[in-house]
Amino acid sequence: MQNVLDQGLRPVTIEAPTRSTADTSEALKACPGIELHHSDLTGEESIVQDLVSAWGPVLSTWEGAASDDQVRFAGSSGGVASALAIYALERLDFRLVLHVEADPDAPHTNRTAVSRNRDEVLKRSGSRYAPASPCELLQVIEDAGGPCLFIGKPCDVAAAQKARKYRPRLDRNLALTVAFFCAGTPSTNGTLELLKSIGVPDVDDLVDVRYRGNGWPGDFVAKARTRDTSYSCTYDQSWGEVLSKHVQWRCKLCLDHTGEFADIAVGDPWYRSVREGEMGSSLILARTGVGNRCVDTAIKDGVLTALRVDPQLLPRSQPNLLRTRGEVWGRMLGARLAGASTPEYRGLPSFGLWLSEVPLPRKFRSILGAMRRCFTQKIAFKSMF
Ligand SMILES: Cc1cc2nc3c(=O)[nH]c(=O)nc-3n(C[C@H](O)[C@H](O)[C@H](O)COP(=O)(O)OP(=O)(O)OC[C@H]3O[C@@H](n4cnc5c(N)ncnc54)[C@H](O)[C@@H]3O)c2cc1C
Repeated sequence: MQNVLDQGLRPVTIEAPTRSTADTSEALKACPGIELHHSDLTGEESIVQDLVSAWGPVLSTWEGAASDDQVRFAGSSGGVASALAIYALERLDFRLVLHVEADPDAPHTNRTAVSRNRDEVLKRSGSRYAPASPCELLQVIEDAGGPCLFIGKPCDVAAAQKARKYRPRLDRNLALTVAFFCAGTPSTNGTLELLKSIGVPDVDDLVDVRYRGNGWPGDFVAKARTRDTSYSCTYDQSWGEVLSKHVQWRCKLCLDHTGEFADIAVGDPWYRSVREGEMGSSLILARTGVGNRCVDTAIKDGVLTALRVDPQLLPRSQPNLLRTRGEVWGRMLGARLAGASTPEYRGLPSFGLWLSEVPLPRKFRSILGAMRRCFTQKIAFKSMF
């Protein structure tokens, strides 16, 4: 993968002239940026039917956190993803966890990581608002010879779930998937602008960068080697004022912001405000029977402390995501009118949300803005990848 600073991680081998060669065709079949669909979920009794069209399959909903305070504190929200990872390794006999960490050589960027014990999982806790590509090491899961956990963004998990259809050993070993809610990944240029805005003089001097966690939601903190200095700002300043403005074009066309293809999805319960010094908390969704059983046993075994909540807390927790999903319909129309590639979606409706959730001026902006972007950035004339 190659880090394109104003976009994200892009595969160097998949370029227009080679799109149909045998070695890239499996990757293209698995890519959710090309095609993504749900099978028909209507009538499935175990699924909350009035959520399914906008939020995908939801079987059960909890609010809670890791019971272990160290994990809870380190995690982005309630440390649920990390707690489940440690649980899988220590008690469910999983071989490994595939996820991401700060690249030690350039900690403002990410690299894919394999964890086999609690310390490694803890070190890699916390959401990182920068490009990451955990699917690049799916081979490690294929070779693991036993059950494995995959943690990632909704698109990472969707890709892994699609890839398993073509890879029998991946299918056998991929025992559990956990996705976190994601409104979009900012490019590396987003982090570089943020570092500049908080006064970091030399990116190459950084020894650690944490985007959040170590508290809820936790500050953005960059540590420099020279004079052991730290630079920081709040989550609202980092995501709200800088990083969200650098969300890449691919994410602007994404309809899955809540991990609809994962066994378990976790996000922030933003339906309420966070009290000063409050310990982290997560909204936890079981999306499959496997996910449901795993959360249930993790609660019974004391790994998670969580209470069942009304599934309607999901739309209340992420009110912007309905509008975001509606805007995708407008952007895809604009992009297609400009001749650009867009993902092909089935079973992830968005037109109704464009009609009901997107205010009139934004309706026009979603279409015209996408057309303008495609023309000015020449997206219309090259592949999205
Ligand atoms: C780009 C981005 C956008 C987000 N948008 C939203 C949003 O719209 N709404 C919302 O509620 N929350 C959002 N989050 C935050 C995230 O959903 C919550 O923090 C979530 O609840 C995870 O918390 P946790 O404490 O269970 O995870 P933790 O226990 O802290 O574990 C996080 C796990 O995610 C992995 N990880 C971290 N960054 C990445 C990455 N970039 N790609 C793949 N894997 C990664 C880590 O390796 C770790 O295993 C976003 C996070 C990111 C990185």
